Amino acid sequence: MKTKNINFSKFSSFKMGGSFDVEIIESCLPLYANHYIIGSCNNILAGTEPPPLMMLSKKYDYIKIENGLLKIGGATPSGKIASFCKKHDIANFEFLSHLPGKLGGLVKMNAGLKEYEIFNNLISICTCQGNLKKEEIDFGYRFTNINTPILEASFTLTYGFNNDRVTLFKKMRSNQPSTPSAGSCFKNPKSDYAGRLIEAVGLKGFRVGGMEFSREHANFLVNINNGTFDDAIFLIQEAQKRVFGEFTIWLECEIVVLDKKFMGKDSPLLNPNTN
Ligand SMILES: Cc1cc2nc3c(=O)[nH]c(=O)nc-3n(C[C@H](O)[C@H](O)[C@H](O)COP(=O)(O)OP(=O)(O)OC[C@H]3O[C@@H](n4cnc5c(N)ncnc54)[C@H](O)[C@@H]3O)c2cc1C
Repeated sequence: MKTKNINFSKFSSFKMGGSFDVEIIESCLPLYANHYIIGSCNNILAGTEPPPLMMLSKKYDYIKIENGLLKIGGATPSGKIASFCKKHDIANFEFLSHLPGKLGGLVKMNAGLKEYEIFNNLISICTCQGNLKKEEIDFGYRFTNINTPILEASFTLTYGFNNDRVTLFKKMRSNQPSTPSAGSCFKNPKSDYAGRLIEAVGLKGFRVGGMEFSREHANFLVNINNGTFDDAIFLIQEAQKRVFGEFTIWLECEIVVLDKKFMGKDSPLLNPNTN
C-alpha cells in the first residue's frame, strides 16, 4: 500500500487547503470502500475535514487504440489525450486541449464545453464495480451517477482532428479569469446562467477575505490572495441565499466540496431547507 502526502494549496486548482494523506491505488481493494477518489483536483474545494482520500496510480495513465476503439486510463491527463488525438489525427477530443482534469474526473463530471461533452463519444467504462455501458449510466449536464472509481473508458474512434475547434475553444476561454479557481462554481440553471444571476444580486466582484466572485466572469469563484475554505463557503452560501431570495432558483454547486460537513444528503449546500 502506497500513500502520498498531498498539499492541496499546491496541488488543487484553487491553490487552497491543507496537507492530507492520499492512498495511491494500484487495484480495487475492499479496504478502499470508504475512501473518496480524487483526480487532479480541478473541480474540488478542499475543506479542513475531508474523508479518507485515494487516487489512481500511474499505472492508469495510458492511452491506446485497440480493437477499433480509443481506450484511456482513468489517470490520464486531458492535455495528454488532446496531444495524442492531434498526433494521430483523431476527432472529437479537441475540447480537452483547454479543459483541465484526468480522464476519471472528466467522465465522472461529464465535463465539456457547450455541446461538446466527454459522454458524446463514450462507449463504456471499466470501474471497481465492473464494466458499464454508456446506456447503463445515468448522465446529464455536469452529472453522472457513477459512484465507484473509473479505471478506464472506451470511446468511438473517428479520424479528423479539427484545429479550428481548438481555436474556437481557446476563444471561449478568453473571458475567463486565469486566477486560481475550479472553473464554474455553480451549474447553470435551466434556461438561465449562474453568472447572470450572481451579477443580478450584486455579487460580481464581491470579495470576502481572499476569495471573490470574479470581476471577469461572475460564476468563477477565484482565490485572489490566500483565500480560505471558510471564505469560499461563505460566498457560495451568500450567492445561494441571495439568488433564491430574489429569483426562487437554488444554485447547485458544480464544484465538489470535499469536507465531511458539506458532503452527503444533509449538506447545507443542497437546498434552501438544509441551509
Ligand atoms: C480554469 C478551469 C476551467 C474549467 N473549465 C471547465 C469547463 O469548461 N467544463 C467543465 O466541464 N469543467 C471545467 N472545469 C472543471 C474541471 O476541469 C473538470 O470538472 C474536470 O473534469 C475535473 O477533473 P479532475 O481530474 O481534476 O477531477 P477532480 O477535481 O479531482 O474530481 C472531480 C470529481 O470527479 C471524481 N473523480 C475523480 N477521479 C475519478 C475517478 N478515477 N473515478 C471516479 N470519480 C473520479 C471526484 O471524486 C470528484 O467527484 C474547469 C476547471 C478549471 C480549473
